[in-house]
Amino acid sequence: MSKSASERLENFMTGVIRRNPGETEFHQAVHEVASSIIPFIEDKPDYREARILDRLTEPDRIVSFRVCWVDDDGNIRTNRGYRVQNNNSIGPYKGGLRFIKGLKLSVLKFLAFEQTFKNSLTGLPMGGGKGGADFNPKGKSNQEVMRFCQSFMIGLYRYIGQHVDVPAGDIGVGAREISFLFGQFKRLTNEFTGVLTGKGLSFGGSLIRTEATGYGAVYFLEDMLAEHDLKLDGLTACVSGSGNVAQYAIEKLVAEGTRVLTASDSSGFVHDPTGIDEDRLAFLKDLKNNRRGRISEYAEEFGVEFYAGQRPWKVSCDIALPCATQNEIHQEDAKNLVNNGCIAVCEAANMPTTKRGMEVFIDAGTLFAPSKAANAGGVAVSGLEMAQNSMRLSWDEAELGSRLRKIMMEIHEKCRRYGDDGEHIDYIKGANIAGFVKIADAMLAYGVH
Ligand code: NAP
Repeated sequence: MSKSASERLENFMTGVIRRNPGETEFHQAVHEVASSIIPFIEDKPDYREARILDRLTEPDRIVSFRVCWVDDDGNIRTNRGYRVQNNNSIGPYKGGLRFIKGLKLSVLKFLAFEQTFKNSLTGLPMGGGKGGADFNPKGKSNQEVMRFCQSFMIGLYRYIGQHVDVPAGDIGVGAREISFLFGQFKRLTNEFTGVLTGKGLSFGGSLIRTEATGYGAVYFLEDMLAEHDLKLDGLTACVSGSGNVAQYAIEKLVAEGTRVLTASDSSGFVHDPTGIDEDRLAFLKDLKNNRRGRISEYAEEFGVEFYAGQRPWKVSCDIALPCATQNEIHQEDAKNLVNNGCIAVCEAANMPTTKRGMEVFIDAGTLFAPSKAANAGGVAVSGLEMAQNSMRLSWDEAELGSRLRKIMMEIHEKCRRYGDDGEHIDYIKGANIAGFVKIADAMLAYGVH
């Protein structure tokens, strides 16, 4: 990076930190993007003088609302709901809802910012947003989750709509929660529209949506490996998480002949040296989706080791697929992975690698697929769900599967276009710039607002 670009970056980040005090996750996500964009716009005065990056780091709107509900013992409970509408220059706001204990606005702002670039990369007309609540679904009955979702939607419904903002699921928000939320929106507005994605198949959902993020990440990984004449078949992988993204990443990896050695949840990880096969994956899905159990039960069932309170990155593997949460690969974890021979990291979760962790991978020359490119398959199929809802028809699995594969291949191509310096592809830079250009051109066209 030139001296003037590095000074601009430092000044820019000083301003971001001053305007958003204490929001460390947001600072981290903005810094990662700005490190690519500021050098890129050095010789592009149109983008620079229009202050596109400054405008992109100030969300269009942040809504916060009280969510009151009654638990099974008759106690009145109060949570806080949010929606961050980051940017709608290229389409309605689009992004998931996260229900997790202690959710902070900083996390939602980073996710909404990232989502803006990711959605642009898909090539579909979607802006960026994210939302959620500091509600902990763990240990709650179905009735409590239903009452919470219904109250949450009462707070949210006036800010969303099929042409305005289309939320989806994320951590703690799966098919059950989306169904409760959609039912309540329908009841409040008397409208049946595609206002949420990830819906059940009988009420406007799309085939492949459940699988899309995990499958999409493995497609991207395949394309990245193919650049180096490598294949998934015969490799070993460490996966973190055991939720939606992890389950379908594992499924696709197993189908491609990769031996998946680990899975985890917020209580620890399991190490299965023989590999998670189809039967064991079926057990894992049932455990997590139906019985809502803990990952230690997998270890008990199959007689493998459970490591309480630990992350899986010390297990030796060829590829790492973080599929749980942000900042789950720290500097030490990255060093362990590199020293144990890991050749590729594919970020299926959002921003799972810390800044220092990323530096370790870059210095080691590890192939690195950043989340905004690698996990864009989920929102891409959400975009296809919106298209199907607008047309009032449903595409079949083959149609959707081939569209998802093509979108992931095109995202890989976009990363190459802006990240290939002739010697290697910098996927972080490629994804950031490719995502930025489409939004920036739209913002330039609109003038100042
Ligand atoms: P999910 O179904 O709720 O699963 C989340 C998994 O991560 C669970 O295994 C959970 O463990 C674990 N986890 C959550 N917080 C953790 C923590 N602090 N430390 C360790 N493990 C933790 O969520 P998901 O949809 O798979 O999402 C996973 C990641 O992918 C998130 O970063 C999300 O933003 C990203 N993503 C999701 C989609 C999508 O389509 N779903 C699309 C793009 C990106 P517990 O069971 O113990 O909670």
